Amino acid sequence: MQFHDLKLNDSLLRAVEKEGYTEPTPIQAQAIPYILDGKDVIGCAQTGTGKTAAFALPIIQRLSTNPRRRHIRVLVLSPTRELAAQIGTNFGAYARHTPLKHTVIFGGVGQQPQVQAIRRKVDILVATPGRLLDLMNQGIVHLDKVEVFVLDEADRMLDMGFIHDVKRVIKTLPTKCQTLLFSATMPQAIQELGQRILIDPVRVEVTPQASTVDNVVQSVFFVERNKKRNLLTHLLKDSAVERVLVFTRTKHRANNLCKQLSRARMQAEAIHGNKSQTARTRALANFRDGKTRILVATDIAARGLDVDAVTHVINFDLPNEPESYVHRIGRTARAGASGIAYSFCDIDERKYLKDIEKLIRQHIPVIENHPFVSDATAPEPTQLQSKPKQYRNTSGKKRRRGGRNRRRNSNRHPSSE
Ligand code: AMP
Repeated sequence: MQFHDLKLNDSLLRAVEKEGYTEPTPIQAQAIPYILDGKDVIGCAQTGTGKTAAFALPIIQRLSTNPRRRHIRVLVLSPTRELAAQIGTNFGAYARHTPLKHTVIFGGVGQQPQVQAIRRKVDILVATPGRLLDLMNQGIVHLDKVEVFVLDEADRMLDMGFIHDVKRVIKTLPTKCQTLLFSATMPQAIQELGQRILIDPVRVEVTPQASTVDNVVQSVFFVERNKKRNLLTHLLKDSAVERVLVFTRTKHRANNLCKQLSRARMQAEAIHGNKSQTARTRALANFRDGKTRILVATDIAARGLDVDAVTHVINFDLPNEPESYVHRIGRTARAGASGIAYSFCDIDERKYLKDIEKLIRQHIPVIENHPFVSDATAPEPTQLQSKPKQYRNTSGKKRRRGGRNRRRNSNRHPSSE
């Protein structure tokens, strides 16, 4: 399948080519024809699958077939500023050969430039819910002529407590508009919301979300909590760890870790919700440009983070929601590339590891020969629902080490070389 098979117009084909995309990703191949056709779509896909282009390209095409109308015709709601900014950048790139204008609004920065951008008239508005409601309440944004509404990362909206704001926004939309709902997971509340707002929707899905981790070489290190930092600095000695995203559970731990790494002369910056937008944007730009090798992030700050060539994701702390693990390691292995994910697991995180392994239906291979190994932290085997993929050694026999069925990992890392 090629982009021109999707009946995209010439200006979009040129834009896509400029982006270096050679063929549509599965979510694009599935969703674009329906969206072009004006259908409501419910898309089960996470960031990293090419879902932004899956909705942005057909939306731009639909808008360009009608002359410019000088009001907001498309609303995209995103849970985080970073994702909103990224979606805005993508719209800019894909619509480069059209007269369409877009802008992005989000909280945490002064509203004036955003107000001015809206007053200059835009066709496409990308927004986070809080700032959008603010500007609606001030009479600056009007959504009564919206033709296409995209609710992106709906499950994350729910997790972040934005769902009521989202519903408030939805109430103001015209009943006739085309609605596209994207979500990595489909919790009950999102399914119910979908039933309320989508009319006769087409469901598109890229392989069950857990299997998107297949391109990532994963391993877990059992380590005591107070040895995690030593293990991290040990791993960072490997020059193959070129551009690394390190995840911590809290903002406080992100800050602390960042300071400690900087003291150890390892360039690191943190992004999380307590940082100003300017600081986040700068940290991201430094990371993108390769000025900073290590970006320490919390889950929420990393949503929608789109940095190419992240070679490693390190889960300094395991997330308590298994879906977050899939989101996190999806930051490496973007659009077909392969990546490496290391996870540190202390004794209190065993339960999280079990949940993750159940979700991804794989045992994550254990690195057993690192300098900070601790037997006390090794968990019991996980009961999996389906047959684990990486369960047998090359002779086809089950490997039993100390009563545990775990394959020794052959990943490249300093202590195994
Ligand atoms: P998304 O899931 O929208 O966050 O996209 C993930 C990454 O894939 C972004 O860096 C996009 O620029 C890139 N991308 C989107 N579509 C394609 C494509 N058809 N081929 C290659 N890369 C793509």
